[in-house]
Amino acid sequence: MHAGGFSVDWPRFRYTMDPLSTRATREAFVTLHRAGLIYRGERMVNWDPRLRTALSDLEVLHSEEDGELLYLRYPWADGTPGGIEVATVRPETLFGDVAVAVHPDDDRHRAEVGRAVVVPLAGRTVPVIADPAVDPAFGAGALKITPRHDLVDREIASRHPELVVPVEIFDESGHLAGPWVPEAYRGLDRDAARTRAIEALEGAGQLLRRVPYRHTVARSERSEVPIEPRLSTQWFVRMAPLAAPVVDAVRRGEIRIHPERWSRTFFRWMEEIQDWCISRQVIWGHPIPVYYCAACGEATAAADRPAACPACRGTDLRADPDVLDTWFTSWLWPFAALGWPEPTALLDRYYPTSVLVTGRDIMFFWVARMMMAGYRFTGRPPFSDVYFTGMLRDEQGRRMSKHLGNSPDPIEIIRSRGADALRFSLVFPNPTDEDGPFGPAALDGARNFLTKLWNLVRFTLPHVPPGTMPPYRPPAVGRTGALENRWILSRYQRTVAEVERALLAFEPTRAATALHSFVWHDLADRYVEISKEALSGTRGDPLRRETQAVLLFVVERSLRMLHPFVPHVTEELWHALPHPEGFLDAAAWPRPSEVDPDPISEVEMAPVLEAIHLLRNLRAEEKVAAGATPRAWIRPAGPEVARIVAAERATIARLAQVTGPDLLDAGTPPPVPAAGRVAPLGECFLERSPVAPGTTETLERERAKLSQLLQRTRDRLADPGFRARAPPEVVREAEEKAAELEERIARIDDHLKESASSAGSR
Ligand SMILES: [Zn+2]
Repeated sequence: MHAGGFSVDWPRFRYTMDPLSTRATREAFVTLHRAGLIYRGERMVNWDPRLRTALSDLEVLHSEEDGELLYLRYPWADGTPGGIEVATVRPETLFGDVAVAVHPDDDRHRAEVGRAVVVPLAGRTVPVIADPAVDPAFGAGALKITPRHDLVDREIASRHPELVVPVEIFDESGHLAGPWVPEAYRGLDRDAARTRAIEALEGAGQLLRRVPYRHTVARSERSEVPIEPRLSTQWFVRMAPLAAPVVDAVRRGEIRIHPERWSRTFFRWMEEIQDWCISRQVIWGHPIPVYYCAACGEATAAADRPAACPACRGTDLRADPDVLDTWFTSWLWPFAALGWPEPTALLDRYYPTSVLVTGRDIMFFWVARMMMAGYRFTGRPPFSDVYFTGMLRDEQGRRMSKHLGNSPDPIEIIRSRGADALRFSLVFPNPTDEDGPFGPAALDGARNFLTKLWNLVRFTLPHVPPGTMPPYRPPAVGRTGALENRWILSRYQRTVAEVERALLAFEPTRAATALHSFVWHDLADRYVEISKEALSGTRGDPLRRETQAVLLFVVERSLRMLHPFVPHVTEELWHALPHPEGFLDAAAWPRPSEVDPDPISEVEMAPVLEAIHLLRNLRAEEKVAAGATPRAWIRPAGPEVARIVAAERATIARLAQVTGPDLLDAGTPPPVPAAGRVAPLGECFLERSPVAPGTTETLERERAKLSQLLQRTRDRLADPGFRARAPPEVVREAEEKAAELEERIARIDDHLKESASSAGSR
């Protein structure tokens, strides 16, 4: 098993650059090329001038940034005074202008269409043209047209064949270059060229005004520099024909997306899908399997380098210098990792796969493309379900990133806290399909839970009847068994059913929450405490045996259900119990049908648990000394509660450490001064201990301490940042703490009042 607790198929270790991946990648390229789904073309691509490579649309981030809109005058070529006013955010691109365009219906400019203007600084003469794509509301309604550096400009120019063919004005690293760039600007990067151009335009009186302007800037995700739209020859995959069968498959439920809400995002992208630029000008990657004939120029796509040109038999063949986008290998993964294109036994056995678990940030980079490749190359879906997890945030609610350096090292966490604590903290208490904070608090919670589980098994071990042999059958307790045994089996049954429902619905957090609550509260806290006496044998041997069987069964089955969440600890603990051959990993999953639900036991147990809880609280409030067993009374809400309390009196007395509880008739007060609480079961009373002389001072000190604590908790809750960032569990805890502190202060006030009045009467 991997340190993180994943069952990895180590003998089939694969890597995206190994020979089998190379084979699959080349095969996929050649197949699509033959089908006319890969083409080479001159396109406007997203160019990263720092990394000097084309990028796909997905690798570009768009953000609103503050800039400047410059109004320039392009003077008339015939020497008439004035000129046309052009607005631009990128004056350094004017060297690439081939026209100035206005809207055909724009009355301000109608008479100017067909006239010639001089491009400032460049000195070339270009025409004023009319085109419906111009937005008359932008600037003064006239647009400079730089077809090699703007997609809209390129479309406009394509409708005007009379224009001169544009020349590139930037080199691959984003520096100005080429015959249209004046000597003084060549070799300058975009920023330096912009500064120099603005100065020169100002000097020439051609810069009319500068206006602050907020606009969208496209930046490279990796290098963060602004993208330079650049016309270049690249390889593309035609995506629409690949996307269509996937959209159909998801619509008819052949592949299901969880949580379902993400399918909307998925469809939106798939239905507007653009061709995929797959060539990259970087060193690392699979070479594009295309060979050019030096003699006749023929381009041949082939999985293996051909010996000769198929057109002219020439042997001087040059490989394409570019490499493929790494996703072009990754999108083949579900079947390429199993040996495709060979028809292997592994493919037969394991393809299609079942569930893909991943982050939604790669929904389009990877998930959608795997689906497209699956249907295209194998005719089948690569998996039946996709589960998108949430994205972890730090405790301040920020996304984790290399840039911020706020991402903890999982190996470090595994070393210091254990792999299981890490795993459990990822599903509990944060909902796994939402973005949630992650940090020491979540890890502490997980580790405390594991300690609880460890102690539970340690408690169970001495009570395992000698000679117990697996597999354990559900103990036959029936309706005549002890209430606590019937109750814990029913609670167990309910938990198995809930965990099964949650897992089938792809809601692992719901499953983890149900298990956490059952194991911690019902099993370890309540059941273990209640069953201690039966296990000691003082209530007879049959009950002892029944209780031992129930405890062992429920603990063992809980370990099975917790195994996927905390595999290391559960495997270890399971081996401490009598267990069948092999590993817990391979043991059968508990079925809800193994045990019958027993709702009556839960209804009957409720007032017992409630009475214990209330009396314990009263004990704490009344500052009952440890070991003391004050008298307690219950005034039941009805005859049914009266019957249950009478039957379970010993359990209540033992767990709440009280004498009694005795039943009171309606309207009858406790015979001595008592503190009381009202609850659904009725009223609980605890004998009030007289305030000893000298305690007033102690109580006042205590009150001051509690008030301080309360103030701190309230301040924390009043901080909107805390409420926004802390996990809901932590906020809830703080709220409960505040309520509890208020309650305790009120109790002290009662005591103080009482002792004041008794002092006064003395
Ligand atoms: Zn040739």
